[in-house]
Amino acid sequence: MTALPLVAAKWVDFHCHLDLYPDHAQLISECERERIATLAVTTTPLAWARNKEMAEGSTHVRVALGLHPQLVAERENEIALFERLLPESRYVGEVGLDASPRFYKSLEAQERVFERVLRACAEQGDKVLTLHSVRAVSKLLQYLEKTRLPDRGRVVMHWFTGSVSEARRAIDMGCYFSVNSEMLRSPRLRSLIVGLPLDRILTETDGPFVQVDGVAVRPRSVAGTLTALAPLRGIEPEAMRVQVLRNLAIMLKQ
Ligand code: MN
Repeated sequence: MTALPLVAAKWVDFHCHLDLYPDHAQLISECERERIATLAVTTTPLAWARNKEMAEGSTHVRVALGLHPQLVAERENEIALFERLLPESRYVGEVGLDASPRFYKSLEAQERVFERVLRACAEQGDKVLTLHSVRAVSKLLQYLEKTRLPDRGRVVMHWFTGSVSEARRAIDMGCYFSVNSEMLRSPRLRSLIVGLPLDRILTETDGPFVQVDGVAVRPRSVAGTLTALAPLRGIEPEAMRVQVLRNLAIMLKQ
């Protein structure tokens, strides 16, 4: 996502699991054809090489190195591989914390992994992170403060579900927010999104986890997300589209 491709991009999907769809290669072609600046997040560093290879030569798809908090219970030792691969990647995700009932018991291990991720990113600098923060926003923000990562890189809160005051803390640290279609179905999150600074908003799909009528959304679905998002901010979808592109360009240049 250097300057040139961004000029050519039309849409932004800043968090999509391209490698979890059965037609990974076709999706990359689709992102190229539709000019969707897509961040292909991964859930384990073992997926890095294959994802890189698939996206090689793509103008609009970038791959993020990840270690998903929901996998940390079984894969904590993969943090070593993550650290070895990190110099190869500007983009990092999916990483973060998940304190929901199913994953709560691995929270301590998740914190160990997340802190190492943040410290390595802060040390190398200029990383762009997409963060998972289910039921753990406050704790996650504490780690951002403790490691001072937001001063050394860019942070995108993916599928943010925290409170208004937690959003405020994240905004004050310079965080961005990537909004998906499922968030816009929640009245509470809709009103939270109304209060976000317009210049901190990106779009995402979190496909294939987000589905509509049982079918996984695809990166091109961000067009519908903009259509739903724009009226909340009192602007036209086209103006929202341009705003999101500009936000991405500015974020990546910082
Ligand atoms: Mn995800």
